[in-house]
Amino acid sequence: MNEKLCDAIDGLMPSLTDLFKAIAVRSHDGVGISRDAYGAVETATGDILIEYARARGLDARYDRVGNVNVTRKGQFDKPPEILIGSHIDSVPRGGNYDGLAGVIAGIGALAALEHGGGAGTGGLRVLGFRGEESPWFGTAYLGSKLLMGAIGREEAERLKRFDTGKTLVQHLEALGVDISQLGRAAIPLDRVKAYLELHIEQGPHLESIDKPLAAVTAVRGNIRYPFATCEGRYAHSAGVPRHLRADALMATVKLIAYCDELWRREIEAGHDDLVFTCGILQTNSAEHSMTKVPGEVAFSFNVGGVSDAVMERFHAAAMDKAHALAQEHHVRFDFGSRVGTNAVDLDKDIAELLRWVGREAGIDVERMPSVGHDAAMFARRGIPTGIILVRNANGSHNPDEHMEMTDFAVGLKLLTMSTARIAAQNG
Ligand SMILES: [Zn+2]
Repeated sequence: MNEKLCDAIDGLMPSLTDLFKAIAVRSHDGVGISRDAYGAVETATGDILIEYARARGLDARYDRVGNVNVTRKGQFDKPPEILIGSHIDSVPRGGNYDGLAGVIAGIGALAALEHGGGAGTGGLRVLGFRGEESPWFGTAYLGSKLLMGAIGREEAERLKRFDTGKTLVQHLEALGVDISQLGRAAIPLDRVKAYLELHIEQGPHLESIDKPLAAVTAVRGNIRYPFATCEGRYAHSAGVPRHLRADALMATVKLIAYCDELWRREIEAGHDDLVFTCGILQTNSAEHSMTKVPGEVAFSFNVGGVSDAVMERFHAAAMDKAHALAQEHHVRFDFGSRVGTNAVDLDKDIAELLRWVGREAGIDVERMPSVGHDAAMFARRGIPTGIILVRNANGSHNPDEHMEMTDFAVGLKLLTMSTARIAAQNG
């Protein structure tokens, strides 16, 4: 591992640790961390990051759509060849690291490369996206989509923040964004050769295998039905025999149990990336009773994985089973509208590079799939993309998110060395 760069990173770690703390203090909501998308705390976070980057001799400012952009001095208008990004917003009552760790790592990497050498001559740019988390406007990746020009004015007029009731256009205007430019890319992307993102792991995998880092192989897609229902017939619990019932709850729980069994079989067949969740299952509290056969159930169906074909197979089997259960129990399933996204493979060469750079430094970098991040937007656009996950003891999107600063330092070294390798390849 490049010693000059390692020394530069070790030298930066105390101030980077303070940066995490300063932003945590500014974003504390009494319970957890709330950095509201296109709002005051998100902007305060951006301001703190910009001030830190400028103090390290970097050019840092908001771009045309309000994202934090950090480059080396004199490179702001240069077309970027390597992008390092993540997001500065959080979910309401979330933790301090989901998103922020990646932006701070990006700024740390750029500062280390600036002072330790290895930045190459190509354009390097760190992006701190606004509005990645979906609770605020009901949809994710707003900052990266705006950067790409993938959200026009009409869509921005439609999207409303759940708590302020204001549209995305109103929020953007309050930040001084020129609305007439929406729908156009804010920076040129045609010369981008790599997009890299460091992010804390959302789940417990790395913790469970005692490894600090992973290179992501693919971002899971999903097939979802948020508002599925099963309709049967309410009846007296003691007065109606089993064969004459239309029990919506029995049919639904059998379907969910069947999906769990399907899931287990897919894992045994080697598809251990598959995830199935029924996060909502409820009888109607206005009508249900211990002494009534349940006549209606509302539930959700959510299958995710890295293979669209496997997810479709799972989905088809579940639909067949629902059909059979409807006959058997005299009920009717209505799944409502299907939503979801396709799975996306990340760049194999970058994943291999991350593991190779890790090996050189004595770090055993795990390979694993991941949930969605801004990175998925760049991968879908055909830009070679890599994600580094950092171990997190308590999962993300909660106030107890936990990242050891020693793990962060190792992740930052991997990010910085890998960026230097790609910059060198690009000449
Ligand atoms: Zn995130």
